[in-house]
Amino acid sequence: MRCPYCNSNESQVKDSRPNETDGTIRRRRICNECGARFTTLERVQLRDLMVRKTSGQIEPFDRDKLARSIRVACRKREVSDKQVESIVTSIHRRMETEAPDDIITSEYIGQLAAESLLSLDPIAFVRFVSVYKKFTKITDFKKIIAQIPEAEPNAEACDLPPPKHPAGRLF
Ligand SMILES: [Zn+2]
Repeated sequence: MRCPYCNSNESQVKDSRPNETDGTIRRRRICNECGARFTTLERVQLRDLMVRKTSGQIEPFDRDKLARSIRVACRKREVSDKQVESIVTSIHRRMETEAPDDIITSEYIGQLAAESLLSLDPIAFVRFVSVYKKFTKITDFKKIIAQIPEAEPNAEACDLPPPKHPAGRLF
């Protein structure tokens, strides 16, 4: 690992911290040449996956881009950064172990992300699918909502007594 200050190739690892959620290892390093301290982030990568977009363009799989699109769908929902990271990690691992080819379609990634979101938060699921499937009409939403199973993940809320005010309006 090259020192960002003096470009020397010699450094010592002072501390290693594995992160169980996203599978990364953070290493504190000290440069043997100039004594500068810096941190590197390592991630095990099993394959060099490429993504074929709907336009036909092929680009390297970008985990951060996937995380961003999931985070946008989860905005103001009760989904933590840690949950988003673990969705991305499990999608990444699934692609690395299951994809028959190093080139995967953006459609397939979208499908995996949508599946994960459906079990986590149906609202985030609908938002995500509306973007990745490029919804243009309200009927697109109706169709996808019709596919969501009735039982929501927060089933314990059903044990609460019914609200005092009759639900006369939607909002
Ligand atoms: Zn240095």
